Amino acid sequence: NKQVVLNDYVSGFPKESDMKFIEGTIELKVPEGSDQILLKNLYLSCDPYMRILMSKPTTSTFGSYVPGSVSLAFQMQPLTGYGVAKVLESGHSDYEKGDLVWGFSKWEEYSLVSSNQILFKIKHADVPLSYYTGILGMPGMTAYAGFYEIGTPKKGDRVFVSAASGAVGQLVGQFAKLAGCYVVGSAGSKEKVDLLKNKLGFDEAFNYKEETDLDAALKRYFPEGIDIYFENVGGKTLDAVLPNMRLHGRIPVCGMVSQYNLGQPEGVTNLAQLIFKRVRMHGFNVGDHYHLYPKFLELVLPLIKEGKIVYVEDIAEGLENAPAALVGLYSGRNVGKQVVVVARE
Ligand code: NDP
Repeated sequence: NKQVVLNDYVSGFPKESDMKFIEGTIELKVPEGSDQILLKNLYLSCDPYMRILMSKPTTSTFGSYVPGSVSLAFQMQPLTGYGVAKVLESGHSDYEKGDLVWGFSKWEEYSLVSSNQILFKIKHADVPLSYYTGILGMPGMTAYAGFYEIGTPKKGDRVFVSAASGAVGQLVGQFAKLAGCYVVGSAGSKEKVDLLKNKLGFDEAFNYKEETDLDAALKRYFPEGIDIYFENVGGKTLDAVLPNMRLHGRIPVCGMVSQYNLGQPEGVTNLAQLIFKRVRMHGFNVGDHYHLYPKFLELVLPLIKEGKIVYVEDIAEGLENAPAALVGLYSGRNVGKQVVVVARE
């Protein structure tokens, strides 16, 4: 059972050499009387938040979702993360051999997981299974909860999305178009900007790395200001957005990927704009919204099947390429949702 483990806590930008492969020693069998589930991992999801859990709790100035213990659990055992898997053996009556599931698994070929964690049975396998790491999994739910529940869009709203071509952003933009909004995305390369405009239906897109003055870029695309800023990156982008918000604007704070690797997070200077413009800035965690998953599937599955929503994936083949795929998120090497194939069936 090949596993990916960390050598040590990570500081700064993660490197492939921060991870190594070991041969797992646990018995691949559900212990007698246990309600655990034995999974064969098929697809792994590379997600930016994973870096937050790799910092030494006491030295991280950025903070974490769950201070302390989670980071310790991350060390010297396989990385945990979202994935798609097949049930090989189940000690729990809700699951049986052959079921396909998505939810928390580990970065290894086979995993023994607890049944009382985030784990959904896949009932619709007539779409690519890898979609359950992206559009039909955690990032999809993040886009849905963040845009509709937190962003409270109205027809005609002017929407700005950062990290717009990624797992979450590409879907936020398409939801915004379906809601009758004007949407502009920022991304880090010409290839991604073309994708946003020509494939994902954004009204406009720009390469933030080529803009020396982000404020001027935002004024170019939003002469009347921004109603909803879907925040994925934080730092300089957030600071430039704040003075460009409209009265009663909303900022669903989804993530701040530009800050996860910095020893010292960047300061944001324009927060007083929240007062002047009566802007609602609202952080959220997808984990609090999974009760909406059936409603989400009802909306999104038909849209996928009718071709009204598309989804771009970046697929890395083999567990041996997982460390490089994960590290690539922080330099924007991924084009679309970064997935790792461990096994196809
Ligand atoms: P992506 O698929 O968008 O991958 C990360 C992307 O971030 C890269 O491709 C890169 O794109 C961009 N990026 C990396 N470094 C920087 C930087 N310094 N400045 C600006 N952009 C950068 O990731 P996801 O869609 O999975 O995640 C997007 C955000 O949503 C993240 O912040 C993540 O933590 C957050 N998230 C939050 C959840 C929640 O519950 N609140 C759940 C899921 C995700 P580019 O080439 O455009 O720079």
